[in-house]
Amino acid sequence: MKDSIENLVNAQRNFFWSDATKPIDFRLQQLKKLKSVIKAHEDEMIAGIALDFKKSEFDTYTNELALLYHDLDEAIRKLKSWSRIRRVGTNMVNFPARSYIIPEPLGVVLVIGAWNYPYQLSLAPIIPAIAAGCTVILKPSELPSNTSRIMANMIANNFNPNYLAVVEGDVETTTTLLEQRFDKIFFTGSTTVGRIVYQAAAKHLTPVTLELGGKSPAFITESCDMKMSVKRLVWAKFLNSGQTCIAPDYILVNHKVKQAFLDALTAEMKKNEFSFEAGTLVQIINDKNVDRLAKLIDPAKVYAGGHVDRESRYVEPTILNDVSFDDPVMQEEIFGPILPVIVYQDLSEAIQQVKRLPKPLSCYVFTNDSKIKKRILRELSFGGGAVNDAVMHITNPKLPFGGVGNSGMGAYHGEAGFKSFTHYKSVLDKPTWIEFGLKYYPRTASKLNIIKRFFG
Ligand code: NAD
Repeated sequence: MKDSIENLVNAQRNFFWSDATKPIDFRLQQLKKLKSVIKAHEDEMIAGIALDFKKSEFDTYTNELALLYHDLDEAIRKLKSWSRIRRVGTNMVNFPARSYIIPEPLGVVLVIGAWNYPYQLSLAPIIPAIAAGCTVILKPSELPSNTSRIMANMIANNFNPNYLAVVEGDVETTTTLLEQRFDKIFFTGSTTVGRIVYQAAAKHLTPVTLELGGKSPAFITESCDMKMSVKRLVWAKFLNSGQTCIAPDYILVNHKVKQAFLDALTAEMKKNEFSFEAGTLVQIINDKNVDRLAKLIDPAKVYAGGHVDRESRYVEPTILNDVSFDDPVMQEEIFGPILPVIVYQDLSEAIQQVKRLPKPLSCYVFTNDSKIKKRILRELSFGGGAVNDAVMHITNPKLPFGGVGNSGMGAYHGEAGFKSFTHYKSVLDKPTWIEFGLKYYPRTASKLNIIKRFFG
């Protein structure tokens, strides 16, 4: 395996050095091809993911394929403008000259995907990498084995592996990949593995984008539109059975509206028919995660739900009430359909509690009070988020998507993605017909006086 991975990286590097990936027409052609390859495999992709964790066609189309098509269309439309050489002004010291910035592809990149949205999280980073003119090795998550195999086959059958290749495998394969020298590593996954990736990248001084996780809070304030807030919240939390990196992890609810919130929450949950059959829930990805989630359900705090069936990998959408920051469910990212509700008396106190936790990937504020909105947006640091909504910010390619601190570094989607695979090469371009002699020897007092007049 080691030899074949080394050979693949070398072959991609040689292909990159041939400059074949640099022309804009080539990149556009590859983006269009990727779109048509995904389109041609839609049925197979939908069937594969249903086998892996019972994801419905509706969900697969809306939160995997549609996002890919959206990003592809945006990249195809904007590529020429993103890759334009940008003229900038020239300072007096360098007069006369032209100054410009040339966007250039970083080179051979490694993309490591997570399992929870296996198509989107593996293929979406490839779009900006192709747009930027890089070659790509993709290592999808091994947990949903059908989706991993489908992506491997569809890429192998349609792309030159020296340009775009999929390497399937688990920790051992990823470890071997990480020993290689890449020009960029784009990782989506847990904070724990993110650290491993960052350390491996440091050996080669390889830049990284780390799309990690965390505990994303949602504030339910006294001034929110309760019905609408809860409707959006329930959708966002239980989408993909809570296995969403930007799902609201826990609720911070103002004590004055706690009961109104719980009533609205249970009513909304009843309205949604949550089941595999209705296509509104997916399976928990594996037994290990079912067991982990089961342990987080404290029977004394269950307000609704709470049922777990290990055999079918089912965890019922569950509300935990009167939770405190010390409870086990608050010690790790939940990544499942369990929603702890923490009551706050005072917003300042709630904000301080969130500040003490690692910076989250997202934060959601449900309020119609602009002071509260501004305060939370100003005081809390988080990757991205929404006001009076949740999760949907990821669908706007004009909003860079990424974490901060423990929830990651770097961003993608839209131009932010293009930038993360691009080096901006700065060039000062001088004519030779004139030269001022101030910087040259001999260094005289009069020259220094002139220079001082410039800067003084
Ligand atoms: P994970 O970290 O376990 O795995 C991610 C990838 O790393 C997989 O391809 C896996 O094969 C590989 N990997 C696992 N262990 C490794 C090791 N020891 N050395 C090298 N590679 C290793 O994450 P996951 O379970 O697939 O995904 C869940 C996590 O990802 C959650 O924390 C979630 O919040 C986060 N996530 C973040 C985003 C985002 O966009 N920020 C999106 C989805 C998921």
